[in-house]
Amino acid sequence: MIDLHLHTSASDGRYPAAEVVLRAHAAGITTLSVTDHDTTAGLDETARAAAPLGIEYVPGIEITAVWRRKDLHVLGYFFDPRSPGLQAFLVTQRQDRIRRFRAMVVKVAELGLPVDVDALVERAERHSHHSLGRPLLADALVSAGYVADRREAFDRYLGDDCAAFVPRAGASPEEVVGIIAGAGGIASLAHPGLLGHDEVIPSMVASGLQAIEAYHSKHAPATVLRYVRLAEHYGLAVSGGSDFHGDGGPSGSARGGNDSAALGCVALPRDAFDRLRELAVSGARARSS
Ligand code: AMP
Ligand code: ZN
Ligand code: FE
Ligand code: FE
Repeated sequence: MIDLHLHTSASDGRYPAAEVVLRAHAAGITTLSVTDHDTTAGLDETARAAAPLGIEYVPGIEITAVWRRKDLHVLGYFFDPRSPGLQAFLVTQRQDRIRRFRAMVVKVAELGLPVDVDALVERAERHSHHSLGRPLLADALVSAGYVADRREAFDRYLGDDCAAFVPRAGASPEEVVGIIAGAGGIASLAHPGLLGHDEVIPSMVASGLQAIEAYHSKHAPATVLRYVRLAEHYGLAVSGGSDFHGDGGPSGSARGGNDSAALGCVALPRDAFDRLRELAVSGARARSS
């Protein structure tokens, strides 16, 4: 089974990379990619944990771009994690995450929901490879007893256009595609069914987008089919994965992470994976000739 979309505690996932790999192995996953938000901090640990289990490991990342003041996620695969251009870009992304997190903490306090997240912010500042995000603020709202779970925190306060929402400052989708390509990687538009703005795709394709994430835990079967067809229309490959953040407990529960995506709930077909890898290999060949 192939899963190319997993989160660890290097960003907003519940478990450290080594534990995600062990759990993935137990769920029958044989090829995986850890795709943390705006950080590659979990990748070495992922590779080290995957090797003795015979798991095939692909370097991955999920980068947040800004499109019409909204977040748009771009996945990157098969890139060189040591690329200086990529890492410099990610540093600015994580700095903006801290700024935004702080601004949202002020906003929730103004709404009468004070939370103490100094330790989290300090950790992100000290371990600058760690990526802060709204789910961690959601957890603080849950711990303080203001909301029942991450989902309620997003629905009432943190989601796009909600009262405590603060827009991100950052790169456009086209720029992010260029940054992934510049590090030797393949860019894939993450969960387009959740984004709901297919009109962004043509300009991303013109900037070098090579895939779209047709297979995703929140895509209904008809949505998967629709994006497989759209990929064919644009001559793109498809990627896919669970978007696992926690242990896949009851939908939206604090224990279950962001959502109900369990390991093994989504599998990318082998032929789709082979196509992605072929694109990465031929890209590398073209660059070296
Ligand atoms: P951020 O990186 O700070 O923009 O936060 C984005 C993260 O929040 C993503 O990983 C999503 O999985 C999570 N998220 C977005 N919307 C929701 C929601 N309605 N309920 C729970 N988690 C969400
Ligand atoms: Zn996340
Ligand atoms: Fe995402
Ligand atoms: Fe994700």
